[in-house]
Amino acid sequence: MNYNKKTIYDVDVKGKKVLVRCDFNVPQDKKTGEITSDKRIVAAIPTLKYLLENGAAVIACSHLGKPVATFDSYVKKQVEKGKNEADITREEWEKSLKKLTLAPVAKRLSELLGQDVIFATDTIGEDAKAKAAALQPGQIMLLENLRFAKGETKNDPAFAKALADMAEIFVSDAFGTVHRAHASTAGVAAYLPAYSGLLVQKELAVMGKALDNPVRPFVAVLGGAKVSDKINVINNLLEKADTIIIGGGMAYTFKKAQGYEIGTSLLEADRIDYAKDMIAKAEAKGVKFLLPVDNYCAAEFSADAEPVLVEGNIPENLMGMDIGPKTQELFAAAVKGAGTIVWNGPMGVFEFEKFAGGTKAMAKALAESGAVTIVGGGDSASAVEKLGFADKITHISTGGGASLEFLEGKELPGVACLLDA
Ligand code: AMP
Repeated sequence: MNYNKKTIYDVDVKGKKVLVRCDFNVPQDKKTGEITSDKRIVAAIPTLKYLLENGAAVIACSHLGKPVATFDSYVKKQVEKGKNEADITREEWEKSLKKLTLAPVAKRLSELLGQDVIFATDTIGEDAKAKAAALQPGQIMLLENLRFAKGETKNDPAFAKALADMAEIFVSDAFGTVHRAHASTAGVAAYLPAYSGLLVQKELAVMGKALDNPVRPFVAVLGGAKVSDKINVINNLLEKADTIIIGGGMAYTFKKAQGYEIGTSLLEADRIDYAKDMIAKAEAKGVKFLLPVDNYCAAEFSADAEPVLVEGNIPENLMGMDIGPKTQELFAAAVKGAGTIVWNGPMGVFEFEKFAGGTKAMAKALAESGAVTIVGGGDSASAVEKLGFADKITHISTGGGASLEFLEGKELPGVACLLDA
């Protein structure tokens, strides 16, 4: 996979209409619809400002949430959830869509940019087309939620072309969706010259280098709940890393594979053979493969459960909830002196204060390592932020799924479609 892509600095945008795929998928208050964190809108500002200041007319677009684009599919989904088909109304579906309008994002974007944001009430309809046609250099408009159109997630060429027809240049700046081949993330690039925005460019530069040409030793720290989610990541990193550290719920399947008792800890029995293979492969390749040696356990999965420190075999009535102090030391020592550290997945059930210690210790070890540190999106990113170490990390990826697929070495459709530098 080539991560070296042309950016907005490589094209003259003056007087051009530029379609920018942003990530405005912001969290909202369920009741009031109020935006509860504008971080993603703030993050989009540098690219948008650059384009506007350089004379582009900007057509911004994004998805928000998971609207169901047609009434028929809405009915199907509700029936699957156990609702009675006869009770499902069109009004209810329309109401569900209204909740996911991007209008509040347009308002916040306008405040942050300090200029008007023209809002189109559709994506490729009359309103969007007319507003795009009238758009002047230095002006910005935002299309309505892309997923209101059924062509978006299906990567329908006709929908992609209609989006592209409004503009002359495409800029991809929504890293969180580059692993999806949707009309606005990949499809449009068939019709427009495609460049990376500054957010995507940074992700590619930092993560691409870490995987292709890391400063060594290269240490990968993996955690989280499931082995099955990270199989391809482990496979890929075994080819590249010098050390692999495994914590979190997924570690117990590996411990079981080594012949330890793990009590009621998370176990994926159908992955034990895989775990054995990985341990053997690491040994054959000379990759250090570290697993927990002690654990804070609990009798039940609860925030109030009393942590019990267990070394070695876990008794049958207890489950591993976090890595213990010896493991914290072992893992911290392994990242000390690293050149590059990639971290994806918490070391324990960090949402429960009593079991957040291992994840906290790992975050601290990364922060103090002096290495290039990269934290994958999702839970590990929120853990680092919640625990207050965010400003000491080189790069926190903005894409959960996307950064995982990056680590898997998979081709990302939203990156592959951009012009090579
Ligand atoms: P993932 O989405 O795979 O990165 O997993 C993140 C989730 O794994 C978090 O919600 C953690 O609470 C959970 N997790 C981490 N360690 C454990 C554990 N020992 N037992 C159960 N869940 C865990």
